[in-house]
Amino acid sequence: VNWPYEDVRVIVVTDGERILGLGDQGTSGMGIPVGKLSLYTACAGIHPSTTLPITLDVGTNNKKLLNDPLYLGHPHPRITGEEYDDFVDEFIVAVTKRFPKAVIQFEDFANHNAFRLLSKYRNSICTFNDDIQGTASVTVAGILASLRLTGGKLRDHKYLFLGAGEAGIGIADLLVSSMKEEGVSTRKARQTCWFVDSKGLVVASRDDLAEHKLDYAHEHEPMTSFLEAVKELQPTAIIGVSGQPQTFTKEIVEEMARLNEQPLVFALSNPTSKAECTAEQAYSWSDGRAIYASGSPFDPVTMPDGRTLVPGQGNNSYIFPGVGLGVTTVGAKRVTDSMFLAAAKALALQVTEEDLALGRVYPPLTKIRDVSAFIAAAVAQIAYDENLATEPRPYNLLAYIKEQMYQPDYLSFV
Ligand code: NAD
Repeated sequence: VNWPYEDVRVIVVTDGERILGLGDQGTSGMGIPVGKLSLYTACAGIHPSTTLPITLDVGTNNKKLLNDPLYLGHPHPRITGEEYDDFVDEFIVAVTKRFPKAVIQFEDFANHNAFRLLSKYRNSICTFNDDIQGTASVTVAGILASLRLTGGKLRDHKYLFLGAGEAGIGIADLLVSSMKEEGVSTRKARQTCWFVDSKGLVVASRDDLAEHKLDYAHEHEPMTSFLEAVKELQPTAIIGVSGQPQTFTKEIVEEMARLNEQPLVFALSNPTSKAECTAEQAYSWSDGRAIYASGSPFDPVTMPDGRTLVPGQGNNSYIFPGVGLGVTTVGAKRVTDSMFLAAAKALALQVTEEDLALGRVYPPLTKIRDVSAFIAAAVAQIAYDENLATEPRPYNLLAYIKEQMYQPDYLSFV
């Protein structure tokens, strides 16, 4: 009611339950929708007046906030079950009626709600979950670019994840989709992805597994240590999405470097303080052979031999602004997994030989507007291919998309 703009195209919504790796922040999580929408503007030229940040106040279980007299939200424990679902439903009905052209990005919901809400709404409205699908896309892009250094195809690798939440399962699902395009069966593709969660290796005999982990619960003896799992399974890639800092220890990275000429070490947990290992650690523990990416930025590292290695930042801000730009430009009715796969491939194609020579599996962020436009064109093309676009196809999709992008300068304001 209080929002003065009618033509809202991008909404980012959170309920504040799992903010970054920081946990339940209640309504103080609002910085996330605001920040993500700023990235839409900065990275993909989405006009700020077409963006709307939303925080659903469903309470908080954060005791510190509940006891803080200055806490801005309703000071009660989180509502759950039917009451929560009804509230979210009411929000979805209202927001799609009021802003029918908007894509709705779910952000930083706890995983017991994130997977459920995604499968509930993905086939009926224009929505996606960035923590699951955006993270998956940026990580698969980094892995695709890494293949140019390691050789082989996605199916030739073995991926061991630390953390089996939204990010981890989302990445594995997109890897599986991509391998299926290469002609690998679903069963075989899933066999390349292994998980260790807070209770140990995710295996079929465990009876404590949440539903989203079941596809990756393979037959194996239970194991509790990640290092033991590395020794036993001999992965080519370790992917940290646990929110637990310093869990890729020296021993683990050394073991990866013993097993592989160029091990993939992706320490994706945010913020920087939560990374599973730093860039310097990954490089120094592997004699500069690790292909390292992190979720938050790390400075370049100069090795004793004089080489300077530049860590790539596997952050989903490479993906969601471009996806949103593509989806809104062509008025796509849905956001599909094939769009995220197309986005991953488009991003990987933007990695140059010079980037790879520096050890960087993502293009520099200074190129982000061009990268986002390129991703948007790939996503828009999928919308046409899948019959989901509602706008006529422009002759030159990429040029048209670039024309739509808002330039944050004085002249474009007048
Ligand atoms: P989540 O809560 O859904 O999942 C976390 C997982 O980690 C759970 O499976 C949990 O069991 C596991 N875990 C917790 N402690 C563990 C331990 N000691 N050992 C092994 N596993 C453990 O969270 P999520 O959305 O998957 O995010 C996880 C992390 O990834 C966060 O730090 C988040 O910031 C980061 N992330 C990064 C990006 C990016 O762009 N780089 C995107 C999304 C998420």
